[in-house]
Amino acid sequence: MAELEGLEFGKSDFVLLDEVTMEQFMDNLKLSRFEKGRIYTYIGEVVVSVNPYREMDIYGKDTIDAYRGRELYENPPHLYAVSDAAYKAMKRRAKDTCIVISGESGAGKTEASKHIMQYIAAITNPSQKAEVESVKNVLLKSNCVLEAFGNAKTNRNDNSSRFGKYMDINFNFNGDPTGGHINNYLLEKSRVVQQHEGERNFHSFYQLLRGGSEEMLKSCHLHNDPALYLYTREGSAATVSSAVMSALDAIGFLPEEIRSINQILASILHLGNVSFASDGENIKILGLDSVKHISELTATDPDSVSKSLLFRTVATGGGEVIEKGHTEQDACFGRNAFAKALYERLFGWIVSRINGIIEVKDYNPVLHGKNTVIGVLDIYGFEIFDSNSFEQFCINYCNEKLQQLFIELILQQEQDEYQREGITWQHIDYFNNQIIVGLVEQQHKGIISILDEACLTVGNVTDTVCLESMNTKLAQHPHYTSRKFNPSDKSMDFQKHFRIRHYAGDVTYSVDGFLEKNKDLLFQDFKRLMYNRYHAGHSPLRLSNSFFLFQEPYYVRCIKPNEMKSPVLFDDARCEHQVAYLGLLENVMVRRAGFAYRQLYARFLQRYKMTCEYTWPNHLMSSDREAVEAIITQHGFHDDVAYGHTKLFVRTPRSLFTLEQERAALL
Ligand code: ADP
Ligand code: MG
Repeated sequence: MAELEGLEFGKSDFVLLDEVTMEQFMDNLKLSRFEKGRIYTYIGEVVVSVNPYREMDIYGKDTIDAYRGRELYENPPHLYAVSDAAYKAMKRRAKDTCIVISGESGAGKTEASKHIMQYIAAITNPSQKAEVESVKNVLLKSNCVLEAFGNAKTNRNDNSSRFGKYMDINFNFNGDPTGGHINNYLLEKSRVVQQHEGERNFHSFYQLLRGGSEEMLKSCHLHNDPALYLYTREGSAATVSSAVMSALDAIGFLPEEIRSINQILASILHLGNVSFASDGENIKILGLDSVKHISELTATDPDSVSKSLLFRTVATGGGEVIEKGHTEQDACFGRNAFAKALYERLFGWIVSRINGIIEVKDYNPVLHGKNTVIGVLDIYGFEIFDSNSFEQFCINYCNEKLQQLFIELILQQEQDEYQREGITWQHIDYFNNQIIVGLVEQQHKGIISILDEACLTVGNVTDTVCLESMNTKLAQHPHYTSRKFNPSDKSMDFQKHFRIRHYAGDVTYSVDGFLEKNKDLLFQDFKRLMYNRYHAGHSPLRLSNSFFLFQEPYYVRCIKPNEMKSPVLFDDARCEHQVAYLGLLENVMVRRAGFAYRQLYARFLQRYKMTCEYTWPNHLMSSDREAVEAIITQHGFHDDVAYGHTKLFVRTPRSLFTLEQERAALL
């Protein structure tokens, strides 16, 4: 709380800048906010957050109390204020709302999502009803479990989420949480078998090895040294296993379920240690002990395990089914595929088990009133690595979609409404990334269509053939390029690479494995969901759908100040780049040209008519609009509003706050 007290530093809302230029924006963000320990700043109701990379004394109980039930402009900017706004909107108007957190890896999205959840948990259930407390408890504890199994150390973030998460919290008519649902997307399962230089496998493996009890390790035939296992050879991690195990327990996982989870993790580690040797003709398994352990841990027959690692079943032309020996390379590939699939299923199972525990049970809308939802979306941000594969392609596509929603909602809809209402204002030009979304998802000639077509083609379609097809079909696209069109660019290979100019920067993708991964069911699911906007279901898509239903989506835009995880460095160029591609400057311009609040004349009148002698109890004017003008004039807010065809537009929320206070005093 200490950090919140005292003078406000700089402009707490970028809307208040003297001039909307990148220079002023960056000065405010860096000098007046970040360097003074103010990590949150508004653009209207959007929170811009800069990762402080140090503990901040702004998440305590007294801070929560200061924000509880307050309006945005009553306190310094904070995640708690938007959380409260989302909560109030949900409760007052029985509307579903959602909070979308975006930013690149390490920018602070997951931490923000946890602060939001903690705030909501803290301000609800004042009567401490046991069943509500238990739902809140599971929702909060589930984060720890999801992070253990879904996060890993990467070069950009020591605790990087390697999956996307959309968490719904359900509320009853009292505004207390009654349940929730976690959707997970695109777990980066390739990490189970391979990690980039300097990165690690999922935390869960190290927690098992380093934090598991001696007895448990023994029963899983494991030693506590991660270096002994191929899949965890890259470094080791701090051990917080006991926290995860007790979280699992507190959430309601049974002891035998926890044991099974450990056994599956152990099986995966043992699988990684199975290797193969070829005598020229056939291959054999090296590391039969590992096979023995796997079969014991998964309660399968060791011969079948060996067989499945060495052979595959193929159908011959004549309809016969035969077993064909793997090459050494095939066998390794198969082993890794098995390990990845096991982990993915384990993760999926854990999430669905948690969902089973927190799902809203026995909800009767007649008895309990409308069930409303606040969703929190934390999806992994835009990624640019030295080598980018299909995973990065999917993630970056997803971020393009989110950016598009943001543009549509904040910028486009805002402008459209002013136009509709006949309010004069300057049109703001902004970059609409629709063209990049189109490059990926356009029917017939978008990248996804080209991949799908290639996957359906019988015969020898390789990744390279696919790249050629993209080169042909996308030759003219301004956001697509490859070596073919840039013969002198040696950073790309003719057979391998293509480059997309994303809204956040250029990314070169390697097509290696694109077709194989595109066939993968999980990717199929993800893609379909993102691709088809009007498909209903639990997905980011449902989100994009609901956004037009949702009255109010709330946004948190996270900025990563530097690449060193340093609390004192502010890398100007990197930050400016993020501000630019997040469209924050345009956001300010639209907001400035715009109005914070708008309401239909009749509704406005109904609420505030008692604050004016000419309108109370009924006005005698020829229209509601005139009556509203009378209220505004009497209060001296004339310069703060504009009159649309059907609605009143109020520039700053303060005028409204005054009206609200007067109204409350009269009631
Ligand atoms: P993202 O989810 O965007 O990849 P994280 O939320 O995992 O990033 O944040 C990365 C790291 O940055 C965290 O592990 C933490 O050390 C630090 N961090 C982020 N937000 C905060 C915050 N509000 N206060 C203190 N440290 C933070
Ligand atoms: Mg994260």
